[in-house]
Amino acid sequence: MIWLELRTNNRTYNPGWNFSESVWAPIQTQDGSKWPFWNLINQVVKGDIIFHLRNINGNKRFVGYSTAATDGYIISGSPTQQNHEWDFVQTYYKVELTDFITLNPTILLSDFFTNNNADLRTYFSTNRARRTNKKRLFYVIQRGRLQCLNGAYFSEFDVILPSMLVRNYDTNRRENAVVENVNTGVAVGEVEHRIGHQIFSDNVKENFSSKCCFPNCPVEGRGFLISGHIARWADNEPLRGHTGNGLCLCLMHDKAFEKGLFTLDENYRVVVLVNDFTNRQWLSDLLQGGNNLEIKPRQINPLSQALKDHWRRIGYER
Ligand SMILES: [Zn+2]
Repeated sequence: MIWLELRTNNRTYNPGWNFSESVWAPIQTQDGSKWPFWNLINQVVKGDIIFHLRNINGNKRFVGYSTAATDGYIISGSPTQQNHEWDFVQTYYKVELTDFITLNPTILLSDFFTNNNADLRTYFSTNRARRTNKKRLFYVIQRGRLQCLNGAYFSEFDVILPSMLVRNYDTNRRENAVVENVNTGVAVGEVEHRIGHQIFSDNVKENFSSKCCFPNCPVEGRGFLISGHIARWADNEPLRGHTGNGLCLCLMHDKAFEKGLFTLDENYRVVVLVNDFTNRQWLSDLLQGGNNLEIKPRQINPLSQALKDHWRRIGYER
């Protein structure tokens, strides 16, 4: 997922709580209620991209992006030593950040609103009409104008927003549909590359409804899944960003696929390739139950070209 942090103050906090070191928020407001924009921090998964919007000389600017170094977690502690506005709470949602990269030049929020005015309005109303998967956005339409929502400290910076931010970035996006293709490998710049990779990963998980696609595997939820490439990144450039070149698997099944302990046939059925399970009951438990069964339902099927690449790589003959 791609997220947006809106940090409007320039205060210095304890080490680890400052800008580009982490994102954090109290787990509840002063009256004990939950604030949805704060709860989102707990949904971050290691590797997610976080864009940053800051106040610089009175103007809000997109200044750069970071990578989540941890999943969202809960910590008892304090961002400052002295009295501060968060004294009412001792428990926070937090995500450690790494690899802060500056946007050069930084992008004025007002320019972003002006340049993408029509698209942002369309996106806003489409999102509002969604029955499920409605995103919490950092902006609203107020008195006919696009406005930053000041309480939106942490929000979902959905696919279309960073792609507006980075011009010339072609997502081939279809609203509310699983995207067929993203040019993840285009070497236009690091930002496009990172965004493309993240979008591929999100699309693959969405394609399998965030479940491990191995038959009968019970694992689900973004944080426990990997969007693995069927044809390796380095081996097949044209297929890189294609959702059909991805399998959504839990950590164990991803590893087993990567090592060639199983593959899929042309009908998307699991073919277990381990000959000898002696003294490896756990591996038998992991794989045997899925043998000859079709992977879980998806909107886009794995590409046969990608599967052939996998067969070739692991020496599987059909
Ligand atoms: Zn699994």
